[in-house]
Amino acid sequence: MHYSNQTHHFVVVGGGAGGLELATKLGNKLGKRNKARITLVDAALTHVWKPLLHEVAAGSLNSDAAQVDFRVHAQQHYFEYQPGRLTGLNRDQKTITLAPIKNSAGETVVAERHLSYDTLVLAVGSTTNDFGTKGAAEFCQFLDSQEQARRFHRNLLNRYLQEEFADSSERNLRVAIIGAGATGVELAAELRYASQQLEYYGLH
Ligand SMILES: Cc1cc2nc3c(=O)[nH]c(=O)nc-3n(C[C@H](O)[C@H](O)[C@H](O)COP(=O)(O)OP(=O)(O)OC[C@H]3O[C@@H](n4cnc5c(N)ncnc54)[C@H](O)[C@@H]3O)c2cc1C
Repeated sequence: MHYSNQTHHFVVVGGGAGGLELATKLGNKLGKRNKARITLVDAALTHVWKPLLHEVAAGSLNSDAAQVDFRVHAQQHYFEYQPGRLTGLNRDQKTITLAPIKNSAGETVVAERHLSYDTLVLAVGSTTNDFGTKGAAEFCQFLDSQEQARRFHRNLLNRYLQEEFADSSERNLRVAIIGAGATGVELAAELRYASQQLEYYGLH
C-alpha cells in the first residue's frame, strides 16, 4: 500500500490482548479506506491468547492450532505488521528502535532499525512479579509467553522420560506451583489431566 507523507501513522507495539484488537479495529476502520497507516510491532511472529498458556504448558493444547499469525491477520485487516523487539523510544524525533532479529545460531538476519510514528501505543503487557524472592528468577519457570509455555512443556516431557527409565524407587516428579489464582489452579488441573493422558500413552 502507498501512503502520502501526510497519512497519519499509528504504531502499536505489542500484539497481545489489547494491541492486536486495537490494530485490527484501526485497520478495519481507517486502514481499509487509506485514512491512516497502522503498523503493529511484536517481538513474536504469532499471538496466542495468554489465558490459554497453561494449556500449552500442560500439553493439552497445541499452540500451533491456537495461534494467530500476525502477518496473515494484518493482511486481512488492513494494517502492517513488523516483527521486532522494542528497545528504544525517541519522543522528540517520534521514532522507536527495534532490536536486530537473529536466527537460532545468533546470526543477525535483520539489523537494528528505526520506525517513525505520529501516534504511538505501547501495549507490551506485563510479566510476573517474583517480588525479588531469592532464587525465583534463577530456578522457577514463568508462564508469561508462548516460548515459556512451550519450554515448560518440553521440560515436563523430558522429566517424564527421565522418570520412565529411572528405578521405580527413585521416581519423584513433583511440580510446585506458586500462585493459586486462575492460572495456577487451572495449570494444576491441566497437569493432573496430562498425567492421566501420559499414563494412557505408556509414560508412567
Ligand atoms: C497464564 C495467564 C493466564 C491468564 N488468564 C486470564 C484469564 O483467564 N482472564 C483474563 O481476563 N486475563 C487473564 N490473564 C491476563 C491477560 O492475559 C492479560 O491481562 C492480557 O493479556 C494483557 O493484555 P496486553 O495487551 O496488555 O498484553 P499481552 O497480552 O501480554 O501482550 C503483550 C504483547 O507484547 C509483546 N511484547 C512484549 N514486549 C515487547 C517488546 N519489547 N517489543 C515488542 N513486542 C513486545 C508480546 O510478545 C505480546 O504479544 C492471564 C495471563 C496469563 C499470563
